[in-house]
Amino acid sequence: MRAVVISKPGRAAVAEITPPQTTAPTDVLIRTLAVGICGSDVGIFRGKSPFVTYPRIPGHELAGEVVAVGRDVTHIAPGARVVVDPVISCGSCYACRVGRANCCANLRVVGVHVDGGMAEYLAVNRKQVYPVSNSLPPHLAVMCEPMSIGLQACVRGRICEDDKLVIIGAGSIGLMVLLAAKAKGAQVLISDIVPYRLQLAEEFGADRTVNSQQSDLFAAVSRFTDGEGASVVIEAVGAPSTISQAFSLACAAGRVVILGITNQSIEFPLQKIIGRELDVYGSRVNNGLFPQAIEMVERHQSLLAKLVNEIVDFHSLDDATRIFLDRPGEAGKLVVTTCYR
Ligand SMILES: [Zn+2]
Ligand SMILES: [Zn+2]
Repeated sequence: MRAVVISKPGRAAVAEITPPQTTAPTDVLIRTLAVGICGSDVGIFRGKSPFVTYPRIPGHELAGEVVAVGRDVTHIAPGARVVVDPVISCGSCYACRVGRANCCANLRVVGVHVDGGMAEYLAVNRKQVYPVSNSLPPHLAVMCEPMSIGLQACVRGRICEDDKLVIIGAGSIGLMVLLAAKAKGAQVLISDIVPYRLQLAEEFGADRTVNSQQSDLFAAVSRFTDGEGASVVIEAVGAPSTISQAFSLACAAGRVVILGITNQSIEFPLQKIIGRELDVYGSRVNNGLFPQAIEMVERHQSLLAKLVNEIVDFHSLDDATRIFLDRPGEAGKLVVTTCYR
């Protein structure tokens, strides 16, 4: 089968490899229909992901069709349209024992620690497979994974209708956080430096958008919160400067959720954390939120269609590196598909 293999940082190629098989009775063999490319895939390609090992077939945002199931798989049958939760956990470590398998000590993420969906076929455990309706186009179904990330950040930040939330970053993930937070009734200010993304954020329901290159974000947040500061700040960029900014924007007794990741070291804002008694949370993939994410994606199809702005045919993809190029100036979701020809 064809697969995109990142052999080492900076090197990706389309290769012919042996297809996977359903070896375990709990396995589900999936034919990939669409795979979303996100910032973390670009990070894997550039060698900037702290978690990945090489060589790797990337692809953790995927939609497909079941082609075969092991004998113990009963919830899904060949022919079903599905999405895949990329989280694989051990079930026995402390995190797993306390119900937080998404940050399992032995966590493996499809497309990061194990080979992912940028291949014609993929075998995964039945626990990771969720059916979606046949009417959900595969290039939008891939958004279930980013949506689960947005939901997880809101769970971590305990977002509720009393919150005045600031989201730093209106890329695909920031916009998913926005949808999840609006569903919980929060008022949301979102910032970015790309006008196109901020325009999308308005369409996605932001109460306030701020171009932080053109105006002072701190002053805008102050106005938005009547001088108090944000009850919750969710950082969805992953740059040292925006991470430290997140702490400055939170009000006393507020919460800060760090979603963006960097392998650069950042300054630890001790005085702000203790002085304002901030709750600081990391947010990692998702913890059992796929059913909710699927429901959100099915409900918001027309909005999400505005975000997916480039579709590449997997079969005519010759230069694999081109899908990992940075797409500055766009919110840009590129989806590689095998199903539209
Ligand atoms: Zn992603
Ligand atoms: Zn575990």
